[in-house]
Parts: sequence; structure tokens; C-alpha cells
Amino acid sequence: MSGVGTVIAGAGASTLIGDHVVAAPAQVDSLAGGQKTPGPVTIGPTDRRYADALQRGFNRRFVGSPEAVRIVSTTKQVVAAVQAAVTAGKKVVVRSGGHCLENFVDDPAAKVVIDLVEMRSVTFDTTRNAFCVQGGVTLGDLYRRLDWGWGVTLPGGSCQSVGIGGHATGGGFGMLSRQHGIVADYIDAVEVVIVDATGTAKSVVATRATGDPNRELWWAHTGGGGGNFGIVTRFWLRSATATGTNPSTLLPTPPGAVANTILTWNWADVSRADFVRIMANYGTWHELNSAPGATGTRLFSALTANRSEYGRLSVVAQVDPTVSGNNTLRSSYVSAITAGVTATPTILDTGTRPWLTTTLNLPTTAAAFGITGPLRSKSKGGLLKQRYTDAQAGRVFDRLTASGYTNPASGLTLLSYGGAINATAPTATATAHRSSVIAASFTSYWDDPSADAVNIDWLRGLYRDVYAETGGVPAPDARNEGSYINWPDIDFLDSTQNTSGVSWSTLFYGDNYPRLQLAKAAYDPLNVFSHVLGVAAP
Ligand SMILES: Cc1cc2nc3c(=O)[nH]c(=O)nc-3n(C[C@H](O)[C@H](O)[C@H](O)COP(=O)(O)OP(=O)(O)OC[C@H]3O[C@@H](n4cnc5c(N)ncnc54)[C@H](O)[C@@H]3O)c2cc1C
Repeated sequence: MSGVGTVIAGAGASTLIGDHVVAAPAQVDSLAGGQKTPGPVTIGPTDRRYADALQRGFNRRFVGSPEAVRIVSTTKQVVAAVQAAVTAGKKVVVRSGGHCLENFVDDPAAKVVIDLVEMRSVTFDTTRNAFCVQGGVTLGDLYRRLDWGWGVTLPGGSCQSVGIGGHATGGGFGMLSRQHGIVADYIDAVEVVIVDATGTAKSVVATRATGDPNRELWWAHTGGGGGNFGIVTRFWLRSATATGTNPSTLLPTPPGAVANTILTWNWADVSRADFVRIMANYGTWHELNSAPGATGTRLFSALTANRSEYGRLSVVAQVDPTVSGNNTLRSSYVSAITAGVTATPTILDTGTRPWLTTTLNLPTTAAAFGITGPLRSKSKGGLLKQRYTDAQAGRVFDRLTASGYTNPASGLTLLSYGGAINATAPTATATAHRSSVIAASFTSYWDDPSADAVNIDWLRGLYRDVYAETGGVPAPDARNEGSYINWPDIDFLDSTQNTSGVSWSTLFYGDNYPRLQLAKAAYDPLNVFSHVLGVAAP
């Protein structure tokens, strides 16, 4: 592959749209015909746009107070903005989609935020034979552009406003991951703005090619987490096993359509025994149907168990109904989930729907819970190789139904994992977790700032109960495989909450952490890019 190990600044990619090959515009400051890309724009506290810039974060529990927000359009501008911050001795952070669940970006210590909100181009680079995606594109824009342009997609998350910058560098999974792996598996190369030992900012292209002197920088961005090594200005994406030069064959093909079955129980009808059984059914099915390539990996399912005030408990199953056998798979799944459960769910079949429209129109978190004010949240995660025990499920039921707390937007969601995710070796990318079959997401959402403590305390209590046998966290063992860095949780640092003796870094990175530390030392020797759960040099 050309360009292996080269150091460049602001070089353009080429675009294939239909039969035309053109220069990718967003990487050059001046365009044909005298047009110019915006930026770099500097927004300070007295600028009208400052308030808007501070609202870019999803979790309004964290709002920063930087001296400047830099809106950039090109790699060259990012290099200049990083250099200016480093020269001035200001802590610099980068924002892509703003969906960080902890305060890595809206850190009070951050003085300069480099915001990639205007770096959203999606092109096909004929030189690298890969899709070239700027670091600020949102998943919704990416899916839309890839599908309309080339009929391909990526197996990423379902929230349209998540940014590629944090998502891909932390792994990135979604409804298609059981069939196609995670987004990080498709990173062929990254262009990263780093700062060397002399304090000089520069952009480096790092690829997965064997022999690339910067291969470890590429590797670090395949699950090592955002905000640790530099600023990814461009990702080049293609399947590791794809051959040929036809863009439409270099990334997964989207499903022919989607069809959902939604099982909904009235919470009031669900006994403790029923809840334990539903959790066991969900877990057992995933234990049996999540080997790479297994037929069951064609089905994705989410079990949403929120506080009883939410009124309902649901299991959603999604398949591509245009694939032979998938509707049978879906109905057998429904039978497996409801087996031995006394309460009767309503069962809604949504019928066949177009994939892209359905994917781009999933309800937002705020809409799903009817939250109208700026959203605040706390999240915790866990990856499961085996289902929760009945004892754990029973404790979840107790927390979801106990009196004294009433937020309906708090609870536990189980998501299908495994399949093609587990076809990749734990060391092939920085994403170490390649044995789990379920991802567990513990979340609480609210909008009243005065309710922070009560919601966070409740979520911590739920998590503590679930992981009572393993020191309050999903410490790696036969059942647990740690957690997911894109669901960062600073509580892992707290020895009163994490009594497992297992460090936060092992929980998030498994055995890959020491290698990430070496990449950190090599590519960010001055520790310019850091946050509270940041990779530290050895
Ligand atoms: C509502 C919601 C739904 C979600 N759904 C899913 C899901 O379905 N699947 C899933 O896997 N995850 C999901 N996530 C988690 C999501 O993947 C992470 O929060 C991700 O890190 C967000 O990336 P971002 O760019 O939007 O966030 P940001 O806040 O912009 O960035 C997150 C971190 O990455 C760093 N970063 C951002 N851009 C770059 C860059 N270009 N180069 C280097 N570092 C960078 C930031 O500095 C920060 O440390 C969800 C999160 C939310 C809030």
C-alpha cells in the first residue's frame, strides 16, 4: 500500500462518485474556482457561538469552560491548532460527535477544544483503495453516505449523532456486529495529528500493513479509545479480507430489509420468577447462538429492563427478513424467550421495512424516555461470556422494583454481542474483548441537575448488586470479560466501588494494555492527549 509510514500534512484523497474521480475537497484549504473551506475558526467566551459550542456534548452533566474552541476543516488546520495549544502550554482535547459518557472532553482542565464538527467528508480514496472518512462525521451521516453512494455500510452503533472519532477508536458495535464485527475491524489506516518529543505537531499516516513503521499507532486506534494518542483526522476503512478495487465490495452490504418483533410485558404482570426466567432465556439463547458464523448471529436482540415506573419490559428481535430462514429464526427466538414465563407479552411484528430509513430513524434517547431538558446521564457497562446467574437477575429485579426511587429512565439493557466480533483474535486489534456474547449497559437519564446524586447512587447500587461476587465490577473470569471503553466509567478508579483488585485498565483493555502503553510512549511522549481514564506510558 502506498504511503506506508509517510508523514504528511493535509494531503487530499480522491473521490469516486459514479464514474467521476475528483479531489476530496475538505482536505485542501482552497478549492477550484476560488472557494475556500471554513476555518480555522476560534471561538472564545465572548463569541455568540461559544454557548453553542459548549452544548455539543451529549451528557450535560459535564460542560467545559475552555478558553477557545477551534472549529477546523482540514488536517493542516488541526496541526496548526494543536501546535498553537502546545506552544502556549494549554491543555488540548478533541471533540468529534460529543457522545463521550464521562468528562474526557468537557474536562475543566481543558483550555482548547478542537472540534471536528465540520470535518465530515466521506469519500472513496482510489489511491488507498478504501473509504476515506474525516474524523468528525456522525454515524447517521456515514451510514447515509455509504449506502446512497456505494451500497455499503459499517457495523457500528445505532445512535445517529455519535461521532466516528470516539466510536471507531474505542471499537464501535451495533446491530450488524454479530454478522460483521466491529467498526475498528475495518480501520485500514488512520491519519493522526500527534505531538513529538520536541513539542512539534505533525500528521502521521499509520496503516495495518505489515512493515509499516507506524503500525502500532494504527493498532492503538483499533480499540485503544479516543483522546489518548493524538487526533484522528481521517480514517481509511475497508474490510481486512476484501479483494479487488470495486468500492461496493470493500465494506459489508446492508441488510435487504429489516423486520422487528417486539415483545412487551406490562411490568406489573411480571413476577420476580418471570423476570429471572426471561433473563435466563435471553442469556441461554445467546450462549448457544453466538459462535462466529452461527445461524443465530443473523438475529440481533435488545432486552430493556428499566425501573418498573417505565411500565413495560421489552425484548426486541431484529432480522433481515429477505434472507431465507430468518423469519423462522425470529419465531424460534420468540419461543425461546417466552418459554416458562407465566406473564403474557404483547407481540408486535413490525413487518418488513427498508433498512436505511429504519436505521436513520431510531428514536433518540431523550425521545424514548420523554426527557425534555438537557440530558444528564450516568452509564456503566459489562461484557458477558455467560449469562447472568439467576441470583444476579433476581437482584436486578429487586433494584428495578424497590420503593424509594422512581426514575423510569434508569435500568439495564442487554444487547446481542459475539458472532463475527469473536472471529478476530484479541491481539489483532486493540479491542481485547473477543469472547463475550452479551453486552450489558446500565444507564440512568434525567434532566434536573439537582437529581444527579440520587440517580448516580441508584445506578451504582444496581451495579454493585449485580457484581457482588466479583468485587463490584465485571472482573474477568469464566462469566465476565470486563467492560467496553466506549462506555467509560470512572467508578472503576474508586477502590470503594471496585474492590476486585483488578485495575480499570485491565477491565477495559484486558491483556492489551501494556502494548497500548508502549504506543503511548512512542506517539505521545509529552502526554499532550490525556483524560481521567487515559492510557499512561509505562
Ligand atoms: C446515546 C448514546 C448511544 C450510544 N450507542 C452506542 C452504540 O450503539 N454502540 C457503541 O459501540 N457505542 C455507543 N455509544 C458509545 C459511543 O461509541 C462513545 O460514547 C463514543 O466514544 C462517542 O464518540 P464521539 O466522537 O461521539 O464522542 P466525543 O465526546 O467527541 O469523543 C469521545 C472520546 O474520543 C475522543 N475523540 C473524539 N474524536 C477523536 C478523534 N478524531 N481522534 C482521537 N480521539 C477522538 C474524545 O477526545 C473523547 O475522549 C453510545 C453513546 C451514547 C451517548
